[in-house]
Amino acid sequence: MYSNDTAVKESYFRKIFNTNFNVGFGKPSNDICSTCVILKNRAKMKKDEEKKQSFILQLKVHKKRAKSFHQLLNRITDDELGINNVRCYVWTENERSRRCNEIASPIYESLQKVDSAKIRKIRLFSDGCTGQNENMTKVSMTETWLVSKSLKNITEMELHFPVTGHSFLPADSVFGFTETAVRKEQEIFNPQHYINIIGKYGKLCRIGRD
Ligand SMILES: [Zn+2]
Repeated sequence: MYSNDTAVKESYFRKIFNTNFNVGFGKPSNDICSTCVILKNRAKMKKDEEKKQSFILQLKVHKKRAKSFHQLLNRITDDELGINNVRCYVWTENERSRRCNEIASPIYESLQKVDSAKIRKIRLFSDGCTGQNENMTKVSMTETWLVSKSLKNITEMELHFPVTGHSFLPADSVFGFTETAVRKEQEIFNPQHYINIIGKYGKLCRIGRD
């Protein structure tokens, strides 16, 4: 590619690299909301002012919804909603799948175990995955529980589906810790190894047993 006559020093390459390329490095960010990133980039790339403003407006609405969710969360001072009180239901894919029935069952079981003698209202927070959380199976299950299984003092239930990417509930934190710990493991040979890691950050539960 070059002869002795045209050889240049390393500093020359460095200068070209630093001044002629649009390359930047930064600390990788965790928990970035993909909707925020997409809307920001679309607004930045659009030359048409009307379309640009449309994406900026969508981003504002998205952030406002996320903010109102956090304000609601901050109003909840219940000790039950803490990182030390996260129940982690575990099963392997040969035991059960991950569809709406399999998700509704542990929620039902957890509702049965909540000490609800002094509670009037129960709020359930979950992501908006239709196959697992945002579906009629879950709504029917909560309705059945409220009508026929809950104590008489519980008169209200709210189902919340926070804006995607901005929930950061205690369960999300436990999931984040677990994911980081799994990545640090050199080798994982069996499901129990995963279960042991999960158990370090949350209370391990098995359906029908815990
Ligand atoms: Zn966002």
